[in-house]
Amino acid sequence: MNKKSVAVLGATGMVGQRFIQALVNHPYFEISVLAASPKSAGKKYSESAKWYLEGGMPEEVKGMKVVSTEARIEADIAFSCLPSESASEIELRLAKQGAAVISTSSNFRYDDDVPVIIPEVNIEHVGLLLEGQRKRRGFEKGFIVKKPNCTTTGLVMTLKPLQDKFGIESVIMTSMQALSGAGYEGVPSMAIVDNVIPYIGGEEEKVEKEVLKLLGNGRKDAKMKVSCSCNRVGVTDGHLESAFVKLGRKASVGEVKRVMREFEGEVQKMKLPSAPIPPLIVMEELDRPQPRMDRYAGEPERAGGMAVAIGRVREDNVFENGIRYSLLSHNTVRGAAGNAVLTGEYLFKKGMV
Ligand code: NAP
Repeated sequence: MNKKSVAVLGATGMVGQRFIQALVNHPYFEISVLAASPKSAGKKYSESAKWYLEGGMPEEVKGMKVVSTEARIEADIAFSCLPSESASEIELRLAKQGAAVISTSSNFRYDDDVPVIIPEVNIEHVGLLLEGQRKRRGFEKGFIVKKPNCTTTGLVMTLKPLQDKFGIESVIMTSMQALSGAGYEGVPSMAIVDNVIPYIGGEEEKVEKEVLKLLGNGRKDAKMKVSCSCNRVGVTDGHLESAFVKLGRKASVGEVKRVMREFEGEVQKMKLPSAPIPPLIVMEELDRPQPRMDRYAGEPERAGGMAVAIGRVREDNVFENGIRYSLLSHNTVRGAAGNAVLTGEYLFKKGMV
């Protein structure tokens, strides 16, 4: 198989390193460019990146020269994980050049012509929106696809089967979010050790908006109410969330667990390399999921961290037709790089890149 050439933009950061883990020895993709800020450019990857992840820096990238995002970059696919305020210019430039840009940054996420994708949930939005995007932005072959905020991603994966089967009227969610969600230097240790911070700037607004876009039909937002409260906790990886959902009709705890367990998307049927089977793991233990134990949920091997672990499914005491549960998803894998790579795998198999 002829592999597609891939650039990672923001390759030295937390999410960039997850992209590298997901792309090394990938059956469809070959890393050809590692790009970061001018400060890292011109050095070998092993000299410019401080590796944060388990398993150590892969040999395949150690000797690659990091280029500046300001340089000319040639690749079939650009996986972008730049700070949102630095991402727009380069993402537009690469899409104009003909690349498929698949991005974890929040710039463009709320534009009507930009699909925001969780492959199992709304992959059809890509087909619906891309023609309009190309016309509007003057792209001939390239395009821009976004993935949602990491906190939105796990929540929406659990809501999708409920919406399809029972309908949803409203959702209340409280998150306990990992430190890696803010980048390596994001939260000072003195602020978070022995502490919980009940505020993450802009996060609640993002989740509340994105749930509606993802569960909508691609042109119109879903009609439901969403309210959330986001907290930073002293956990390295994995966002734990408590969800309280008012369903459109009465459903028993058993029915809810069954539809969650049976849920799958086209990417599971296609057996794509990063597609977890199953995508939702419903646990029966009373004290699970937990970040330390369950953040790498997902089989087969390439899909570790791509499944969402769910536990404590029970009736809600406040909402009529209410259900409540806990969910855990790995914020830099399913919530960022892994979700983007799975989207790339789908687009590749469909001949769109
Ligand atoms: P990070 O660890 O701070 O990494 C940022 C990367 O961008 C580094 O490679 C950095 O290169 C590069 N960069 C910074 N400023 C740049 C500039 N002006 N021009 C070109 N490159 C620049 O951040 P992160 O946590 O990986 O997050 C990256 C993006 O993904 C953000 O938009 C974030 O919102 C999004 N995201 C993060 C998560 C998460 O859980 N962390 C989840 C979903 C989405 P240097 O090393 O050269 O500075």
